[in-house]
Amino acid sequence: MRLRFLGGVNEVGRLGMLLEKGNGQFLFDYGISPTRPPQYPLPSPPVDIAFLSHAHVDHSGMMPWLTSRYQPPIIATRATAAISGLLSRDSLKIAKAEGYVEQFTRKDIRRMEDNFDLVEFGDTRDEGGFELHFHSAGHIPGATMFELRGESILLFTGDINTINTRLVWGCHPVHCDTLVMESTYSGRDHPDRKELEKEFIDAVDEVVNRGGKVVIPAFAVGRCQEILLLLKDSPYDIWFDGMGKEVTRLYLKQSHFLRNARDLGEAFHRVNIVHSYHGRKLALKGDVIVTTSGMLDGGPVLFYLEHLRRNPKSGVFLTGYQVEGTNGRMLLEKGRLDIRGVREKIEMDVRFFDFSAHSGHSQLREFANKCDPSKIVLFHSDQREILANDLREDGFEVLLPDTGDELEIDG
Ligand SMILES: [Zn+2]
Ligand SMILES: [Zn+2]
Repeated sequence: MRLRFLGGVNEVGRLGMLLEKGNGQFLFDYGISPTRPPQYPLPSPPVDIAFLSHAHVDHSGMMPWLTSRYQPPIIATRATAAISGLLSRDSLKIAKAEGYVEQFTRKDIRRMEDNFDLVEFGDTRDEGGFELHFHSAGHIPGATMFELRGESILLFTGDINTINTRLVWGCHPVHCDTLVMESTYSGRDHPDRKELEKEFIDAVDEVVNRGGKVVIPAFAVGRCQEILLLLKDSPYDIWFDGMGKEVTRLYLKQSHFLRNARDLGEAFHRVNIVHSYHGRKLALKGDVIVTTSGMLDGGPVLFYLEHLRRNPKSGVFLTGYQVEGTNGRMLLEKGRLDIRGVREKIEMDVRFFDFSAHSGHSQLREFANKCDPSKIVLFHSDQREILANDLREDGFEVLLPDTGDELEIDG
């Protein structure tokens, strides 16, 4: 069996992994880096089956390209399938607006949607000489870890989270021989989730009580819903804008992927939904605004910040990692934002809360130890060595392939 990464090994983005067994070729995830302009993985050869772990664009963004050339079935959950279509249409819209080379057409997105071969957690399938098992990855609703049982067992994790969040239950280790694991947080641990949640709610109280508004930029897929759940019982006038609305509706139709669908339904129905420009003006009169984009590179969030930026009583609470080169990173480091091409000073109270949907360093180490493989392959991080060294200390053989390298794996 041979593995070859097409991208996404030493960076968080544009993932693609080929697995070759006998005459069979399989592709695991095929994404883009949503930088400006976007970056792409190496071109994929024809494959028999594609596996899609979850809908985030660093994993799914090139699937329509794949189906524009070949016609493999794409194995994924229904939640992943629904949201991948939505995100692909959004990427195409951005490409058209910004003048980037379009990698696929709307017709290719429809073709991708037609090619989904839906699976449920707990299902077993015989495919390509493997017995396939599907496990929840705990990262976002529908995110899947793929277990392939042949002469040996391989586990491809996609992105994982081992702790329970409000939105999904954490994932569980799977005993395997080869563990192909994400390592986004290699070298970094997260704060205690309960304490972080309390700190966040207290900060919202503080800002609203002093007469300010709180703008909460959040990623559409996963983070918006987590934040709504956190604010479910708060007494404030909350407004919800951006693509997270559509994602929430899709998740509510896939209730069995949620930790508590009733809570998410209540949290969603409790907030005011912004539908129009008029709605945006009304939202500015409320207390809290939850909106996209999470890294402030576009989306309705810029409208709100343009209006509130001179108000030091108001806050902007970032809820996820801000990649270098994004507007959000500039806000954190320099207190400035690009709004419609003009670099504006933001006088608001800027805070950062680490509501990650990925396991931290120690959690990844513990997960790997419990899977107890003979070989570990790490991907999805620009500093894999830190986790690799700890895992080697634990007695594992750890491989850190570069893009394009071929790895020979038993089984
Ligand atoms: Zn992800
Ligand atoms: Zn990812």
